[in-house]
Amino acid sequence: MLVGRRYRLQFTPEQREVAEEYGSICRAVWNIGLEQRREYRRRGAWIDYVQQAREMAEAKVEHPWLRTAPSHILQQTLRDLDRACRTHGTFGVRWRAKQRWQPSFRFPDPRHLSVERLGRKRGRARLPKLGWVIFRWSRPLGGTLKSATVSRDGKHWYVSFLVETGTAGPAVSLERGRVGIDRGVAVLAATSDGRFFDRSFITPGEAQRCRRLQQQHARTQKGSNRRKACQERMRVIMRRVRDRRRDFHTQTARHVVDGNGLVVLEDLNTVGMTATARGTSAEPGTRVGQKAGLNRAILDKGWHSFELAVRNRARHTGTAVRTVNPAFSSTTCPACGCVHPDNRESQARFVCTTCGHREHADTVGAKNVLARGHTGHRAWRPRRQPVCEAPTSAKRKELALRPLRSESPRLRPRGGSPSPSCGT
Ligand SMILES: [Zn+2]
Repeated sequence: MLVGRRYRLQFTPEQREVAEEYGSICRAVWNIGLEQRREYRRRGAWIDYVQQAREMAEAKVEHPWLRTAPSHILQQTLRDLDRACRTHGTFGVRWRAKQRWQPSFRFPDPRHLSVERLGRKRGRARLPKLGWVIFRWSRPLGGTLKSATVSRDGKHWYVSFLVETGTAGPAVSLERGRVGIDRGVAVLAATSDGRFFDRSFITPGEAQRCRRLQQQHARTQKGSNRRKACQERMRVIMRRVRDRRRDFHTQTARHVVDGNGLVVLEDLNTVGMTATARGTSAEPGTRVGQKAGLNRAILDKGWHSFELAVRNRARHTGTAVRTVNPAFSSTTCPACGCVHPDNRESQARFVCTTCGHREHADTVGAKNVLARGHTGHRAWRPRRQPVCEAPTSAKRKELALRPLRSESPRLRPRGGSPSPSCGT
């Protein structure tokens, strides 16, 4: 099984400078490659990775700055660009702006890499052109090296190794448990068995400091040193918040996934849900501030990264992860099935208007999600096909006269269609 291992690097000042430079070259290659792809698309043509890599090799003659970085990492950048364009469309891929992008580059060839342990807390890795780099040995590597990615997060540099552990992950979980999860704004995750997982990721002191820094930032000049220092201090706080969130997601995913053979989540379109309500100058939107606050709350919980954590944990336990359509999952009664907006008295209280069933609204949502995951499960299990004999001439005539059974509408699979992202 392939796993990732991330360690914090202790670069020498020279190595830091070199890494910073490689990062900017990769960023330039990405942006130039993207512009080239867009130009091709505008003319109705298409350029692929192979052609771009070849043209980059030719461009090295004219542009010596391209020769500074190892060609492997530039090729990997073009490969990533190729994948991004295939997934999101050439015009859906973003530029790598200097302020937004954190430098990162990948060495794909394990023959050029080696790792040694130096002491209890120190290890070193040999990377092409960078030489030996020291990193903090925070956990064992546990497998054979496949590739190494060097990246910066805030002011620290990290190396991530892709490692083949040599053990096959369980294909199917032997656990029989099933759980539905409702992700929300008030509580990050509520499960169908009545558990709640939530915490705040930013402390009150950090929130206050961040607010002051934002005010200070607004008063600085563009491009000034004060502005840079201000951004740097904000980044330090946000990185700590992000680390806390990631840690909580990983731990919660473990609590939720372990012991279960099936985990059902709602299929949430976070990008669509957090779209701005600002509108245009001709048609200004309403409740813009309120929506912006809701968007911030949604993004602060990190729904998507929680889903990724669940899927990652499920890889190790063999648990199936399904996503289902979440429409009306919070207003449907799990006891009698009545759907009515009045069922939900408040954010937290659910009282059925028909049968009087009372429960926490988030638990109700999780139960409904689990039920939907079940129905999808049954309707789409591959059915055993009847053994078909080769028809004799007499039978063939008969078959031609009879309407095909599969065309009858009754026999089509009923129930909601499962999303294509289903696990198994
Ligand atoms: Zn009811």
